[in-house]
Amino acid sequence: MRVLLLNPPGRDLYIRDYFCSKTTKSNYLFHPIDLLVLSGAVAAKHETVVLDAIAERLSAGDARARALAFRPDAIVTLVGAVSWEEDRAFLREMRAATGAPIYAIGDVMHDGGEAVLADEPWLDGCFQSFVNGDALALVERRDADLENAAVRRDGEVRRVRGKKAHGTYRVPMPRHDLFPRRGYSFSFARRSPFATVLTDYGCPYPCTFCVIGTLGFATRPVEDVLEELRALKRQGVRELFVMDQTFGIVRPRALELCAAMEREALDFGWTTYARPDLADDEMLRAMRSAGCHTVMMGVETPDDAILASYRKGYLSDAVRAGFARARAAGLRTVGTFIIGLPEETEASIARTVEYAIELEMDFASFNVAVPRFGTPFRGDAIAKGVADPAQRVMDQGGASASMPTLTLSRERMESLKRRAIRKFYLRPSYLFRRLAAVRTPHELRSQVSEGLALLRRNA
Ligand code: SF4
Repeated sequence: MRVLLLNPPGRDLYIRDYFCSKTTKSNYLFHPIDLLVLSGAVAAKHETVVLDAIAERLSAGDARARALAFRPDAIVTLVGAVSWEEDRAFLREMRAATGAPIYAIGDVMHDGGEAVLADEPWLDGCFQSFVNGDALALVERRDADLENAAVRRDGEVRRVRGKKAHGTYRVPMPRHDLFPRRGYSFSFARRSPFATVLTDYGCPYPCTFCVIGTLGFATRPVEDVLEELRALKRQGVRELFVMDQTFGIVRPRALELCAAMEREALDFGWTTYARPDLADDEMLRAMRSAGCHTVMMGVETPDDAILASYRKGYLSDAVRAGFARARAAGLRTVGTFIIGLPEETEASIARTVEYAIELEMDFASFNVAVPRFGTPFRGDAIAKGVADPAQRVMDQGGASASMPTLTLSRERMESLKRRAIRKFYLRPSYLFRRLAAVRTPHELRSQVSEGLALLRRNA
């Protein structure tokens, strides 16, 4: 069969993968991990083309022409709450023009998908994991093999409810070579080119606002990861975004991977997420020795009561200690924050920015709260009257706030988010420290370009 792996076009730089769609906060754009992981399995059995219309900055017309020229027998596509109205218009047209069934994955249908299938006749199925065999089973019409998906056949919608991820998963090696060579950029890369990789899937923690915690958790064998890394090294890749949502959850496995990367002198620079309560000195040193230069950690808020009520699993003292350890290990630090939870006020947002400055992090990422489908937070936000159960369009990047708080309108939230970014990044001492820390010409170009894009979006 001829299978098209599609990231549809958009009016902005949308990131739609891993059930967490958003507009880029500056101009970064990493490889869509869902399609990347699927690419190995699909291309092993079918003629496969990847069309990433976002990375290639294609207009809807050009994307349509490229897709039609391939004459696909099936289309596997990303969709996102951030771009849902655009996605459904484009895909409806693709279905009519190609006649090929369309199977989709994305946050907008993470509550199971039956309701979306019922409303959208152009959609033939949706699947809830990109590391099981469901995408391929849908394409090959092996519906009896589906684990966690919804499918329409002969007008009937059927839902197969599956278990969450657990144990170990294996996937054929992702086909990085099928993705565009240009068009992707990663804020923290010091060299180019970079690749995006995944060594585990989901997350075992229960943070109530986060969709990743709803997926279960499964790990990939270290040897499979190493095989992919060796292939990337042969292809000339020098930087990695290790997109594990918490690197080092299974400690011996993470230490084994780091030791092998160091032993084999793979010589990647890399960035990943970690939890401040898990990343102890030994883990951080092992990561550093394996080439990691930047670690992103969830700070969320300085308010311990909020951290506890959203089941983060650690408090601010663990965050302070984690950032201090990471700095001592020679790593750059990125703090991720959530603003706009229902309890948020102007004063609490101002306190969050002060806290980001106190923690002396190298970068701060301010995300707005989003009532994501499938999360416990969604039910709370609806019950508190700040989220609309009928709303499907939402953007965690904060280009537009998805909901008000109990005391702040959406518009005020957006303006306070922009102010938070300016306050953090436009400090003369910060800018001086940033420039002094630049190591490579690539890093200088990328930081200037990203910084200008960030400020343009938050003027
Ligand atoms: S630890 Fe991070 S990835 Fe895991 S559920 Fe919490 S916020 Fe999500």
